[in-house]
Amino acid sequence: MKNRISNVMVGAPGLYTYGAMRIGGIIRDAGFHPHITRDISQLHGDQVFMSLYSTLHLLDPAIKEVVKRIQQKGGECIIGGPVSSGPEMVLGELHPDLVVCGEGEEAVRCILHRADRVDCPNCAYIEDGRIIKTEQKRNQDLSFPLPLIPDDIGAQDIRGAQTYIETHRGCFGRCGFCQVPRVFGRRIRSRELDEILKEVRAFQKKGVRRLALIGGTGSLYRSKDGEVNSDAFISLLEGISSIMGPRNVSCPDIRADCLTDEVLEAVRAYTIGWIFFGIESGSEKMLGLMQKGIPVDTVRDAVEQCRQHGVKPAGSFITGYPGEEEEDFQATKDLMEELSLDDVFISLAEPIPSTPLADLVCEQDPASDLVSIPHQGEYSGLHLTEAEARAFDLMLHADICRPVPRMTQDVRYQAYLHDVRKQGSDIRKVTRLLRTYYCRQ
Ligand code: SF4
Repeated sequence: MKNRISNVMVGAPGLYTYGAMRIGGIIRDAGFHPHITRDISQLHGDQVFMSLYSTLHLLDPAIKEVVKRIQQKGGECIIGGPVSSGPEMVLGELHPDLVVCGEGEEAVRCILHRADRVDCPNCAYIEDGRIIKTEQKRNQDLSFPLPLIPDDIGAQDIRGAQTYIETHRGCFGRCGFCQVPRVFGRRIRSRELDEILKEVRAFQKKGVRRLALIGGTGSLYRSKDGEVNSDAFISLLEGISSIMGPRNVSCPDIRADCLTDEVLEAVRAYTIGWIFFGIESGSEKMLGLMQKGIPVDTVRDAVEQCRQHGVKPAGSFITGYPGEEEEDFQATKDLMEELSLDDVFISLAEPIPSTPLADLVCEQDPASDLVSIPHQGEYSGLHLTEAEARAFDLMLHADICRPVPRMTQDVRYQAYLHDVRKQGSDIRKVTRLLRTYYCRQ
């Protein structure tokens, strides 16, 4: 063991992420006394593990400053989390000592105990000006110590929940914009139910009143070869709900082709009763380009099935994907109108490194990038780009397509405008980073 290590900290900007708490638990289990914070200005110590969940964190001057300060005081800064899909970008922008790529548990155990990182899996670092990447591994056994849960977790609010918990890893899907199958693989690895319930009790004891399930797509818990295991999913929701109460559990993300009547009954009985489908587009051509693997008719059936079981269907849509033409966009609007969803989430396509979408963005002519070219149609007076204008139009359209249509008042209109401009600006920054570090490889 490296004897000099006495002070270890874990943090994530603004949130106690599940990943940071998980890594904190691994460090505590290894015999250290880590502190966890969501105020990154508090981070200091011999070894500091920072979990970053947005590519924009790589451009954040406050985060750059924290990394520099830790190193100037003789500490070592290790960065992991979703940004690790692009280790070149992390190393190039933030200059940490080490990046933990993908699943971090084994890597962190190793880093704590070895001076030579070449022996630690899932690491990336710079040596003699070159980026060294060690062997990439995934945990076969998802048994972990309890997360390091901070005393003030009850004050956290992530869309109404205080925390997310993990039930399984992986997704058999291939969606081109998603990093889940690339990071966790396409085979589902599930946690033991008793360990999940023990964790739920621990979170509740620390003040968590409401929690949500992560894991790509909820009903794949204990599934095999894409076949939903309804019994396992029911036991999972029933167990969590018996601790938290059904109105305090949500299982938002379920693939439209991973539903059974039993799954829907469990969602109705043991959760807040909503499902968010990743619908993405109403155009079969775009669904093909996105490698979504879920035809529009399957979405129609899933929405209908939800309503029959008293579950509220919601959906997310992506616009601005390379190749989206006016008629594809119109097909999305038409589908939105037909489905009349209870809630809708609109986003611009974000190219995350290691995904097929990132490769498409690298290959496309910047002059045809919908996120950058000026919009010249109905909203030209608002000075939006084409993707921003489409997202804005979808947001307005969603309001009138609800089961009970709502007027878009000025405040909401302005909020939508602000949202699409911010998304556009963020994605242009991410794309610039991608072109600097990723497209050249
Ligand atoms: S279904 Fe969801 S988790 Fe699976 S690849 Fe598609 S977007 Fe990712």
